[in-house]
Amino acid sequence: MAFKTDIEIAREAKKKPIQEIGDKLGIPTEHLLPYGHDKAKVSQDFIRSLEGRPDGKLILVTAINPTPAGEGKTTTTVGLGDGLNRIGKKAVVCIREASLGPNFGMKGGAAGGGYAQVVPMEEMNLHFTGDFHAITSAHNLLSAMIDNHIYWGNELQIDERRVTWRRVMDMNDRALRDIVVSLGGVSNGFPRQTGFDITVASEVMAILCLSKDLADLQKRLGDIVVAYRRDKSPIYARDVKADGAMTVLLKDAMQPNLVQTLENNPAFVHGGPFANIAHGCNSVIATKTALKLGEYVVTEAGFGADLGAEKFFDIKCRKAGLKPAAAVIVATVRAMKMNGGVAKADLGAENVEAVKKGCPNLGRHIANVKSFGVPVVVAINHFYSDTDAEVAAVKAYVAEQGAEAILCKHWANGSAGIEDLARKVVDLAESGAANFAPLYPDEMPLFQKIETIAKRIYHADEVIADKSIRDQLKAWEAAGYGNLPICMAKTQYSFSTDPNLRGAPTGHSVPVREVRLSAGAGFIVAICGEIMTMPGLPKVPSAEVIRLNAEGHVEGLF
Ligand code: ADP
Ligand code: MG
Repeated sequence: MAFKTDIEIAREAKKKPIQEIGDKLGIPTEHLLPYGHDKAKVSQDFIRSLEGRPDGKLILVTAINPTPAGEGKTTTTVGLGDGLNRIGKKAVVCIREASLGPNFGMKGGAAGGGYAQVVPMEEMNLHFTGDFHAITSAHNLLSAMIDNHIYWGNELQIDERRVTWRRVMDMNDRALRDIVVSLGGVSNGFPRQTGFDITVASEVMAILCLSKDLADLQKRLGDIVVAYRRDKSPIYARDVKADGAMTVLLKDAMQPNLVQTLENNPAFVHGGPFANIAHGCNSVIATKTALKLGEYVVTEAGFGADLGAEKFFDIKCRKAGLKPAAAVIVATVRAMKMNGGVAKADLGAENVEAVKKGCPNLGRHIANVKSFGVPVVVAINHFYSDTDAEVAAVKAYVAEQGAEAILCKHWANGSAGIEDLARKVVDLAESGAANFAPLYPDEMPLFQKIETIAKRIYHADEVIADKSIRDQLKAWEAAGYGNLPICMAKTQYSFSTDPNLRGAPTGHSVPVREVRLSAGAGFIVAICGEIMTMPGLPKVPSAEVIRLNAEGHVEGLF
């Protein structure tokens, strides 16, 4: 069977002018700042004017551990938003912006898929409204000011060997991972080793996504630790007086972007922090604005629920005071089969036994999400090759876990294919069953927080960390950072730190290799395993085939 590609479907979209989408949410024209005909930012003044209005209900879309089979979280987030609108609810979708760089490595998009997409998808995956350029500029302004401070006499006594603030760009470029700067003589400064990360890994990105307003943004930017002195005391961005100018560069980027789904329903697409060394959710300001404007807000967290939902709850919801009303866990028959040991090439053939064998991965995510006091429903994102018997096996397993699994065909049929899930989500949200609480209290010692996540969410036996790491955590506690939440950085493919260990492993150890302080964003990153903050391009990057065709359309991007 031949299907239209995501980009073909997106090009056929009957888009409405963005003012009409804004009208649906009651955003006055003067507060909708258009970027072309189909994108707009919502003004800070309007957002401020919403204070005091009641909030709608927040729905999280999360998933099982990802497999190369693909799960479809964004597709389901967008589909559910359309489904809720279809059954008469005023629903708003909130998702992340895409990073430009990786699109030129491997095909991929961040706008959903099939008949559940947001548009304009090409622009969303390229320059969009320039937010990532603003973040890149703000980040690199701080980098430049640090080296400039050292150049002009280094009054702050920055130890040049301990400058932790690097540079960023939105491009996959492994050549820039480790570099030496300031070569070429006295007038170019003091040579030192540093490097580039990709923009989405910038702490400025995480800060933009967690700040509640411009004043909060500036305070957090000032709190960034950029370097240390010889006595190891920290130097902040505020010390090099960069926070004000960085805020100026970010003032437009702080305003959420409004676009539309294929069915002309409103979607905010704003911010896109890494899901490993950061928390992987769209901005707090977009989510909070959407909650003031809609009855339902459907949002997504990156990776599987062990990382994505945990960070959404323990970092974003805790810090922003959000109370999710329900969660949808996306599962696919194909991913269940892969968890059950089937190779990717064999996914097309029916294999009910493998589906059953893979289900415990889903079961653990259900129990984990429920343990936060958030009611759960499972969405089976239907693929064309799924058989009735396989779908029935997933449904039966989920019923045994005390939840319901609903077959969803939004990818093929848009909102008409996801009405049942939309109704169930409304039931769960209206039932008042939600009683959200984060996993651990703010006061818990930092190492114990890591242990709590590892034991309760990953079902590990122990956390292993060198004395130097434990000492560092204690030092941060002494310096007043003990109340920060933990941002776990581990493989997304497994509950353990071994990407090949699928299913629902127990008895494993979680080795913490390194800990990093993101003082501005407000979390401590625990790195378990190799984490790449500057990706490379594959041997044959998709950039080789990306081009404009005779009609001026982009080819090869998706
Ligand atoms: P995630 O957000 O979990 O990374 P996406 O929603 O972005 O996943 O989907 C990844 C890819 O899988 C997209 O290209 C999308 O078109 C495709 N996809 C999603 N759901 C289906 C489906 N039911 N059938 C076929 N392809 C799908
Ligand atoms: Mg996604």
